[in-house]
Amino acid sequence: MTRVDLPVIDCHTHIGQLPGVVGDAYGPEDLVYLQDHEGVRYMLVSSASTSTIGRGCGMAEMLAMVARYGERLGAMLWANPHDPAWAEDVPVAAAHGFRGLKIHPVLDHYAVTPEALDGVFACARAQGWPILTHADVDGSPMAAAPYEPLLRAYPDVPLILAHLRPGAIPLARRYENVYLDTTYVDAWMVEVGLAALGAGKLLFGSDACEGFDVGRVPGRVRPRRSYAGLIAALHERGITDADLERICYTNTKELFGLDGV
Ligand SMILES: [Zn+2]
Repeated sequence: MTRVDLPVIDCHTHIGQLPGVVGDAYGPEDLVYLQDHEGVRYMLVSSASTSTIGRGCGMAEMLAMVARYGERLGAMLWANPHDPAWAEDVPVAAAHGFRGLKIHPVLDHYAVTPEALDGVFACARAQGWPILTHADVDGSPMAAAPYEPLLRAYPDVPLILAHLRPGAIPLARRYENVYLDTTYVDAWMVEVGLAALGAGKLLFGSDACEGFDVGRVPGRVRPRRSYAGLIAALHERGITDADLERICYTNTKELFGLDGV
């Protein structure tokens, strides 16, 4: 297995039961396996079980992860504003060193509006946590553009719009607190995003362990991928070593205050 040849922090991974297929699940051991075998330094992780099963299950997975692997895996609290009691987990998460919030309007079935997400952004502000969100295709109700009123209201809350949608690029240009991630994005699109925004606005992400070699047969087989392969594809687009290091490491380290990583 080829190891990455630069420091890498993955800003977007998951454990837990993924949506789609029963048994398509990953645990912190799979992420640590990838760190050991592919050379990734650190990952920010949320539990998909919060959405596919329930809040209690997701939180139990996250707390077990932090207890065992907190030095290598940073926890993100999955917040579903449909759940009237979602904020009950916040003090527990804060006490256990969680590093941010993850929201997924598509899986959790809500439209992106200030009414839906004001409480989540207020929580992020109070805790000093960045928010990572799944941004869906442009033109859909869960596209990046509907976040704009929230960005105006919370200029101090860093928002990572995952999957580098074209509609997210103007937001990242306009608002200092907006970042885009490379999760499941073709390398050519990262090149376009880099040309539009500069390296300081892009964060490397991968999403769960799908397709990676985690040393066992997964619940659902996906096209093979590796960290070294993903990064080589970016290199082939002409992205410089200095920009790659910003995208794959420095930006996320600074944004989440990951001293010592
Ligand atoms: Zn995700």
